[in-house]
Amino acid sequence: MKRLLMLSSILLLIISCTNSGNQKKEEGNMKIQLIRNATMKITYAGRTFLTDPMLSPKDEFDPFAGIARNPTIDLPFQVEEVIKGIECVIVTHYHPDHFDTTASEIIPKDTRVFCQQGDEGKLTGQGFQNVIPIDTSYVWEGITITRTGGKHGSGEILQHMGEVSGFVFQAKGEPTIYWVGDCIWDDEVENAIKTFNPDIIITHSGGAIIPGFENDPILMNGEQTIIMANAAPKAKIVAIHMESLDHCTVSRKALRKMADSAMIPPSRLIIPEDGEILSF
Ligand SMILES: [Zn+2]
Repeated sequence: MKRLLMLSSILLLIISCTNSGNQKKEEGNMKIQLIRNATMKITYAGRTFLTDPMLSPKDEFDPFAGIARNPTIDLPFQVEEVIKGIECVIVTHYHPDHFDTTASEIIPKDTRVFCQQGDEGKLTGQGFQNVIPIDTSYVWEGITITRTGGKHGSGEILQHMGEVSGFVFQAKGEPTIYWVGDCIWDDEVENAIKTFNPDIIITHSGGAIIPGFENDPILMNGEQTIIMANAAPKAKIVAIHMESLDHCTVSRKALRKMADSAMIPPSRLIIPEDGEILSF
């Protein structure tokens, strides 16, 4: 009986150790939830970021390519649910598919908003009181957020597109994320991969085009996403910014097909559905 009791206490001890181990892992659990387009909820080092909030209902604003009103689909759930629990917002650039009127109306004005240098006036002009422009890098709650550059297109259309940024997230014990933003594949993006050696790369892979400039996509397309995946063979690629706007030409299905042909499995090039949560 005594031995039995001892055995059960040892078992209990093992179980409780295992549980606390799991709990600890849970606390550091990094999550990316795609909401829609480039809007994500990222839980990183225990903090919750809302990225590039485009929160309007379907059909709220004018077409970009004369095809359909935007966004072309609704949010996967109520907007109140989207902003629930967020501790800050981070905006790659001030275009309406990355920060819209609904976001401005619904996000509390005292929310911390990180943006690229030059966009702060547009955000404070909307009444946001806690706007932090990032020129090089900024440390918040043990998270180093570094701005990366890139180009929102090429050729003649580029001069109409304005400045864009990407951001790298780094924290002790967390995977490094490189969120490329609305940047096409080029030397600057390639160099950012070499510099930061990211574990996770988030690409905007919708291959958007402006009518009249069909040969110069203003976002990465399928081909560029595959080139990027091959240039970062150890990273997981999360491809977003698809199937939400009328000027995007790449579908999830088409990108998956291209990745299959390039022998890049779904475990390495992840194409989440709206609302889907990825854990790392
Ligand atoms: Zn965009």
